[in-house]
This record gives sequence, structure tokens and C-alpha cells, in this order.
Amino acid sequence: MAAIQLTILGSGTSMGVPTLGCHCAVCKSQDPRDKRMRASVLLSWDGHNVVIDTTPDFRAQALRAGLQRLDAVIYTHAHADHILGLDDIRPFNFHQRSTIPLYGSAETLDRIREQFGYIFRGGTEGSTVPGVELHEIVGRLQFHGVEILPVPAHHGPTSVLGFRVGRTGYLTDYSAVPESSKPLLSGLDDLILDALRHTPHVMHSTVAQSLALVEELKPKRAWFTHIAHDLGHAETNASLPEHVRLAYDGLTLEVHI
Ligand SMILES: [Zn+2]
Ligand SMILES: [Zn+2]
Ligand SMILES: [Zn+2]
Repeated sequence: MAAIQLTILGSGTSMGVPTLGCHCAVCKSQDPRDKRMRASVLLSWDGHNVVIDTTPDFRAQALRAGLQRLDAVIYTHAHADHILGLDDIRPFNFHQRSTIPLYGSAETLDRIREQFGYIFRGGTEGSTVPGVELHEIVGRLQFHGVEILPVPAHHGPTSVLGFRVGRTGYLTDYSAVPESSKPLLSGLDDLILDALRHTPHVMHSTVAQSLALVEELKPKRAWFTHIAHDLGHAETNASLPEHVRLAYDGLTLEVHI
């Protein structure tokens, strides 16, 4: 099997960076790495493409990544910044002449049924709706020879799924990782994880909290994502240990199985 490539489609927090109406230094920065669409990643191998989350920026993200085909969507959770781009999968329905499977926890799928009632009601007066099949995640996922392992975590009072593919982990929107999930994130080459900002937040991990988790799990490299406008790319990187960097939109990593 060819190598699996992981692309950061978006590294920004729920409002994106720049944030509308904000004139702070990061929102006004000319550094392209300070322009962050909403958090999502693409996994590509042998012509297969799976995205984790469909953000409100999904269309722009797919255009920028040159996405030609979409085999599945895996959802971390159902917050608006992770699901609202779902309608924009329709061109892939047309080109592939098929429905697209969506994977998520039972809770996430319930929220998607609720938020996208028009998809599931039928009879939409001539306009097209996404063609989807819902699949509950109850264990490891298999796609064309690649195994994806769900990693449950806390997201404030709610829950979220991280995912592990080979020796790469992706954990966005977490506030804490239960002990039972930590072994699932051991022995990683790359861990991509939420680090919203320095100021504490009930739903998200801070830079200091994520550095502590990196110290505990010991991946070879760590990449922070779901980043707010509080953190400028260059200056924050300068303050981080050598093996920990801020992710940025368009960053690609090779996934080792
Ligand atoms: Zn989010
Ligand atoms: Zn700002
Ligand atoms: Zn969230």
C-alpha cells in the first residue's frame, strides 16, 4: 500500500482566524500560517480520501487541497464548527454516483439527524440534498486496508472522539483524556492535538495542558490545532519545545503504519 498522507485542512478554532471584526495582531498578520480555517484533516492513500469533520469551510478546504473524490466522513463530534459544511459534499455524490458514508458516535449521528433534518425528511421540492448513509462508530473502522481507531475523550461536559491511524493521532476539541484512552495514544510519531490558547477554557485544552499531555504520552512530534487568535504562529513556535509546533492549514504529514 502507498503511503498515507495526512493534510491539515484547518487549524483554527470555531470562529476561525482572522476572527470577524477583530483587529488584533494575529487577525491582521500577513503570515499565511496565521490564517486558520476550522479544524479538520484529510487522509489520502491510493486515490482514497477520508475527511475528519466537514467544517463550515469544507468547500474552500476541499478546493485548496484539490480533493477529487470523497470516500467517507468521520466525525469527532457534532459542534457547528465540525459539521456545518456537510451540504457541500453534494458534488461528490454526483461525480461518484453514490451516497457517502458518515461515521460518528450515536450521539453525534443523532445531532446530525437533528441539525440536517432536510437531508433525512425526503421531498425537498426539487433541490438536491446530500446523499449519505449513517454508520455508528462502535470500534475500529476499516477503509480500503487502513484501520482507524477511535479514541474517546472529554470535551468539557460532552464527549469527543479522537482517532489513531498507524503511528499518528488526531485529537481535536478535548479538555481531558481519560486514563483508559491514554494507551491508545502511546508510541506515536505524530500527535495532532487541541491547544486553543493560554487562558483556561472549560471545553478546550490550553497550551500548558497540551504540553503536559505531550510530556506524558511522548509522541516523537506534536502539532497543536484548533488554535484561537490569541496565538501568533511564529512567536508561539519560538516559545515551544523543538518537537512541538503549531499546525497550520495545508501542513502535510506522512502517516506511518
Ligand atoms: Zn471545535
Ligand atoms: Zn483577533
Ligand atoms: Zn467542539
